[in-house]
Formats: sequence, C-alpha cells, structure tokens
Amino acid sequence: MMNIDLSELDIESRNLVAGQWIGAADGRTFAVADPATDREIAQVPLCGAAETRQAVEAAARAWPDWRSRTAAERGSLLAALADLMMRHRERLARLMTLEQGKPITESRGEIAYAASFLDWAAEEGRRLYGETIPASHRQKRILVLRQSIGVVAAITPWNFPSAMITRKLGPALACGNTCVVKPAEQTPLSALALGDLAMQAGFPPGVINVITGDPHAIGREIFGNTAVRKVSFTGSTEVGRILMRQAADHVVRLSLELGGHAPFIVFEDADIDAAVAGAMASKFRNSGQTCVCANRFFVHESAYEKFAAGLARAMASLRVGCGFDENVQIGPLIDDDAVAKVTSHVSDALAHGATVRTGGDLAAAGPGYAKRFFAPTLIDGLTADMRICREETFGPVAPLRAFTGEEEAIALANDSPYGLAAYFYTRDASRLMRVAEALEYGIVGANDGMPSTAQAPFGGVKQSGFGREGGRHVMHEYSNVKYVSWGLGGA
Ligand code: NAP
Repeated sequence: MMNIDLSELDIESRNLVAGQWIGAADGRTFAVADPATDREIAQVPLCGAAETRQAVEAAARAWPDWRSRTAAERGSLLAALADLMMRHRERLARLMTLEQGKPITESRGEIAYAASFLDWAAEEGRRLYGETIPASHRQKRILVLRQSIGVVAAITPWNFPSAMITRKLGPALACGNTCVVKPAEQTPLSALALGDLAMQAGFPPGVINVITGDPHAIGREIFGNTAVRKVSFTGSTEVGRILMRQAADHVVRLSLELGGHAPFIVFEDADIDAAVAGAMASKFRNSGQTCVCANRFFVHESAYEKFAAGLARAMASLRVGCGFDENVQIGPLIDDDAVAKVTSHVSDALAHGATVRTGGDLAAAGPGYAKRFFAPTLIDGLTADMRICREETFGPVAPLRAFTGEEEAIALANDSPYGLAAYFYTRDASRLMRVAEALEYGIVGANDGMPSTAQAPFGGVKQSGFGREGGRHVMHEYSNVKYVSWGLGGA
C-alpha cells in the first residue's frame, strides 16, 4: 500500500483570511481523508458565518487598492502565481492525488491546466476594453466603461480541486475583483495550498481568502452579506438551485457551472478508432467523475459492434488502483455515496434489461484499500427508462445503445434536462455542421473527446447552468458595464 504523509508535502491546513492563517473561532475542525484508503490525512477548520464575514470584510477592504492597480500589475501577480504552481507542480499533484484520489499523471495534468487559467487571465486582463459610441447630439459623447464588480465568492467542487478554483480566480482577479474561495469539504487542502502560493507570489492581504467548513453557514453568510456582489458556483444542479434561490434576496450576480449528462454519438461514417480514443478520454478521465464525461453512448447500428468491441478492448488496458501508482488510470471513487450511486445505476440498468459486456462491479485494489474502486464497465442495451439515462453517474460506466438515423440520434442526445457537453464522431463535413448546430449543449466535441481549454468559453445551457468560464467571454462574467453620457455643455 502506498502511504504518503501530509508532512512530506509541507501543506498549510488553516484558513486564509486577510493574509493571516486562522482556525475556526471555536477551534472546531473536520477530517480530510484519502479516498483510496479512508485514512485521515488532515484536520482543517470547520468555519461558519463569523469567519466567512471576516473573509468578506477583508476582501471588501482590499478591493479599492486592488481595482485601482493597472491590469499589468494585476497580471504580473497572476503570472507569478501560475509560475509558482508549475514550480511546485509535483508537490501539488501529490497532494491532489492524496485528497482526491485521481491518478498522479492526471493530477500533474490538472496543475498545468489550473495554472493555464491564471496565465490566460493575466494577459486577457489587459484587453478589458471599453467603447465609445456615436451620440445622437453634437454636444454629447457616449462612453462605455468595464469595471470590477467587488467581492466575488467562488464555491467549488471536489472533482477538479485546483482548476475549478483558478478558472474563477484568474479572471475575477484580473478584472479587479477580490475573492473569497469556499472549496469542497473533500478537497480543501489543494485550495489552501493555492492560497499559500498566492501569499508567496505577493498578492496583498485580503485579495484572496480561503474558507473551509459548514457549507450552509458559509453559503448563508455569502448570500446574506451585501458586500458580496457576485457568486460563481461550480457543482451539482441540485445545490445550484438552492443558491439561485438564496441569490434572489439581494439580487446577487451568479454564474452557475452545474452538472452534465453528455451524449456521445458515433455515426456510421465515423473513424471508429478515433471515436474509441475520444470515448476513452471523455469517459474514463478522473474515473468518470467529470461534469463533461460521456454518460450515454448512441452508436449507429452498422458501426455498433465494431465500436463496442474496440471500446471493450481499450478498456481492458485500463489499470485500476491507487492513484500514486504511475501505471494506474482508474483511481478510487470519491466516497461511499459515489460507490452506492454508481452501483445502483448499474443494477438498475440490468433490472431494465441491459447486459454487462465488461466490468459491472467493484474491483479489488488490494489489502489496506477501501472498497471504492469500480471496474471500468461497458453496458449494452441502454434505454430511456434507466436511471443511468437520466442522471449523472459520475463513475467509469459506459452504457451503449444503437440508433438508425441522424434525426433519431439528435433527438436521443437532446432528450435530457442537462446541456453541458456533447460529443459526436463523423467524417461528413455537412453532417458535422448540421449536428453541431442541432445539439442543445454549451460545448460540442466534434471528433474531439477533450474540448476543455483555457482560451475557449466553457459552460452549459438548460439545467447545466449559465455563464461562461475561459476564453474572452469569461471577462464579462467578472466585470460590470457602465455607460457614461458626457454632456460637453452648450446647445
Ligand atoms: P456539490 O455537492 O454541489 O458541491 C459543490 C460545492 O458547493 C462544495 O463546495 C459544497 O460544499 C458547496 N455547497 C453545498 N451545499 C451548499 C450550500 N447550501 N451553500 C453553499 N455551498 C454549498 O457538488 P460536488 O459533489 O462537489 O461536485 C460534483 C458536481 O459538480 C457534479 O454535479 C458535476 O457535474 C459538477 N461540476 C460541474 C462543472 C461545470 O463546469 N459545469 C465542473 C465540475 C463539476 P461541501 O463540499 O462542503 O458540501
């Protein structure tokens, strides 16, 4: 068994408020555990409303100086933080695998991906352009300014412990806002490590604050405190709905990056090898625990057997085990609830007539490991009445069904309340455009199983939320537009 000790990684486990490391006022803490072994790795502060208020007040105090800095000054600090992340990449990656479980090669990839959002924002902040608009009067001028919003709260999930933070922090800070970050309870240490590096990079106290603890108390303070002008949330649609209701009281600006249920269509003219490679990348990254991971496979009947056999062959090469093993591609699921959900999706599918081609159950990971490792699973015979066809599975399970025509495939794909990512494979250029336009999703991978990148707008439609992260589009999420009507005097 591979045991990594937190002390080897030199990680701060207290909260960051106004440039100081603090505990909860009443001294309470909660345990963070390694999902692979269930072993406790750290205690972190169980903070609530009072500490969150301190963090919001610190961010509000830091805002006037931060927003008045030039874009180049803000950008150089963001670039310094990105650089520090890359210099500490191995340490941060090991920490991520320890608290989240993902294979170490994926953790290294996520650190680079996370740093890329800071680098992108560092540059994009210089292009936060305003406008002049021709007026309807000789003695008037119309100016449009883009200004910071104020204190931004970022609430993030456990599945990408670093990237989901920097995807918000980078553009929010580049636009001149200050931030309070609330990471998920399963993965607070990666967030605190980022806070530590931000201090080393030279960010002024209060510009970045990190609070861990009771989500309800922290959330209520965030939405109840009028100094918070924007909340950016990434997480489940269920919690997104709760936050949307809370935002109504003070009409707080929101971005919601919520759950997905991605369809993956393979047309009869597809390059099947490429489709298999795309399916592997989309389905099995992070053991299937990504918001953009393919959850429903629709394969043309004439290509079905070739694709299914190719996918099963590729899946047979996946090694399941502890994320610290360099040869492992499938780590543990995050917790026992996740295991219960994945198991129930598989048994429900079988009860509704599906059959298992490969996998279908927990995989043995060896002595000392928790029962959290699910075998890569391929299911034939997906139908609309199965839970797996309607709910996010968040596990390494690929359910397949055959279709006969393009319209049917599009209808099957769009038959979901979610609208985050969709994928399809075809070699027909006309079909490519037609299907890309018809899919009711915010992100479409056309012959591409891995579309996420810092310079492109990432986000959903329907119940997958609203707002975009990444690309130049994200800068609108973190800035206000102000129209100045300038009278020059005279007639
Ligand atoms: P989650 O349960 O919704 O939690 C997300 C965050 O919200 C956590 O920090 C959680 O804190 C916090 N939270 C929960 N209840 C809250 C409340 N009442 N007030 C304020 N904060 C609250 O989601 P998750 O299980 O961590 O992440 C998985 C989900 O995220 C999946 O649905 C996935 O699709 C989605 N996701 C979406 C994207 C995207 O870009 N669209 C990206 C990644 C993940 P605690 O951890 O302390 O409970």
